[in-house]
Amino acid sequence: MTVQCCKCKKVRDNGQWTDRPLTIQESKVVSHAYCDRCFVECYIEIFASEASLADCSGAGAVQEALKSSIS
Ligand SMILES: [Zn+2]
Repeated sequence: MTVQCCKCKKVRDNGQWTDRPLTIQESKVVSHAYCDRCFVECYIEIFASEASLADCSGAGAVQEALKSSIS
């Protein structure tokens, strides 16, 4: 089965995420997941919202540091 990132729409081919469109055949049996990069981005977003809910001072700085580490 073909796996596509639900965020950036990259397709997983043999463990590698590639930026290509799905074929019509693939689009019939596609499963969605997060690619490595989007997983980290999603994790940062969850962390940031949890930290702000907990009124954690410094959460913004940690979020910026995490973002710069993946860009
Ligand atoms: Zn992605």
